[in-house]
Amino acid sequence: MTLQTPVELLIECGGCGLENLIPAFTSEVPAICNQCRENMLAYDLSQTHQGHTCDSCGRAYLLKTETEFVDGESECQCGGRDFTGLDLKNFAGQTPQTAESKDADDNPDFDWCRPASDNSATEDYNEIFDDNPGI
Ligand SMILES: [Zn+2]
Ligand SMILES: [Zn+2]
Repeated sequence: MTLQTPVELLIECGGCGLENLIPAFTSEVPAICNQCRENMLAYDLSQTHQGHTCDSCGRAYLLKTETEFVDGESECQCGGRDFTGLDLKNFAGQTPQTAESKDADDNPDFDWCRPASDNSATEDYNEIFDDNPGI
């Protein structure tokens, strides 16, 4: 899931702890704290925060892990008590990983069982892999 459509987001600042309500949050816009002006998404949210979305109104909550949040008891501003866990990786400004780099290792056509006499070719392959910026 990526946040292409704006959502209402309530996020606790990882710096000063202030709750910020962002009426139309998308993953493309930085979320700046009203108080300390930090980019709240610059923190490693998956380490410091928990994420929930309200099943009723769709509002997203990014709360610090020490903030008490009980699924089924904590109440959304709309009155809903059903929440879905939110993958915080969607909020971290990470670059998307392409699956292509690891495909080279899985290529079934690649012949690893070369005869031992063919040493020069094996060394060439090693050089190619060393230059691979892959992982
Ligand atoms: Zn702040
Ligand atoms: Zn709600």
